[in-house]
Amino acid sequence: MYERAEARIDLGALRHNCRELKSRLAGGVELCPVLKADAYGHGALHCVSAVAEAGADRIAFATASEAVLARSVVPDVPLLVLGALAPAEIEMAISARADVAAWEPGFIATLADQAAAAGLVVGVHVKYDTGMGRLGTTDPELVLELARTAAAHPNLRLAAIWTHFATADEEDTTFRDLQRDRLAELGERARREFPEVKLHAANSAGLIADPASHFDMVRPGVAIYGMDPFGEDPADHNLRPVLSLHSWVASVKDFAPGMSAGYGRTWQAEHATRVAAIPIGYGDGVRRGLSNKGEVLIGGRRHPISGTVSMDNITADLGPGSKVRVGDEVTLIGSQGGETILAEQVAVPLGTINYEVTCGISPRVPRVGRDEGAAKEPRPGSGSR
Ligand SMILES: *Cc1c(COP(=O)(O)O)cnc(C)c1O
Repeated sequence: MYERAEARIDLGALRHNCRELKSRLAGGVELCPVLKADAYGHGALHCVSAVAEAGADRIAFATASEAVLARSVVPDVPLLVLGALAPAEIEMAISARADVAAWEPGFIATLADQAAAAGLVVGVHVKYDTGMGRLGTTDPELVLELARTAAAHPNLRLAAIWTHFATADEEDTTFRDLQRDRLAELGERARREFPEVKLHAANSAGLIADPASHFDMVRPGVAIYGMDPFGEDPADHNLRPVLSLHSWVASVKDFAPGMSAGYGRTWQAEHATRVAAIPIGYGDGVRRGLSNKGEVLIGGRRHPISGTVSMDNITADLGPGSKVRVGDEVTLIGSQGGETILAEQVAVPLGTINYEVTCGISPRVPRVGRDEGAAKEPRPGSGSR
């Protein structure tokens, strides 16, 4: 039994996806799942343990505090912070024994000082901006210079030169190929000086679509959660959705024609029907843009979200004579009976992407880790509520 709503995290599916992705890599290529933003909304702690069990060679985050949290559950797995670090965060990253990204001489100097003060050696991944136009330096000579600095300093270790794709999910591969070739070309030069330096570039889309982009390590995020980087059906790539989002029916009412549900009376019954109120709303991350656009599953059938999504509740038109009762389970993302609502489908009427759908589930919703083959949750009984 659960309160209001819960997100179920199928850790078996998460491990399956990691193994599936790893099986696509040539021997020696490392798998570095990306667990930033609380594991794309899936709950970082249980996901960190699961990907470590499934053979992650390294785990990546966006921030130092995310790496610190992970370090508390995986004492030995190498970690990498991909994002920009404010000076105050460097110490945190060092204390988590995470490798860090760098592209700026002043930053490397501060990093070296702080690593020396801590008596530790920090791995440096020099970021080459080959076309994302965001973090990193676009200057290949500066990349090599920073690589030399990292290689020469006793408290730094040159770990990698890397880049990030802007268009790997698009059908036209021209720009992705250009970015990949820029990294390959610079990598070749770098390896003349530093034969051990690693290269990495691929996100989920690169991993799936272009084996030539795998280099020495891949950094899949969205695909390990069983979501499709191309916004289509994850089953096409043998990926299993990890997250499902559930609530339950708190009220069922008969509506006469003309009765309305929710703020602003944006939906009114055209004919006699029954309407369910469900205690989950935009305060839980069910976006208000789904008002009169989204769907839910109840009793194994799809029902429209009818009326405005409010902070704590939504309403759904059940149709006349519906047998749905108070306490019945509601699925907002996931499967019931033969029906499925994918995060990819929720994204469409919102004009967004699956990534934002799961990241947007708010902290009010507990993330409950479950395992493949675990006993099915008993259907919430109507009597006990
Ligand atoms: C988020 C992120 C990834 C993972 O991207 P997906 O599209 O989710 O696979 C990889 N690398 C960097 C630098 C990222 O920020």
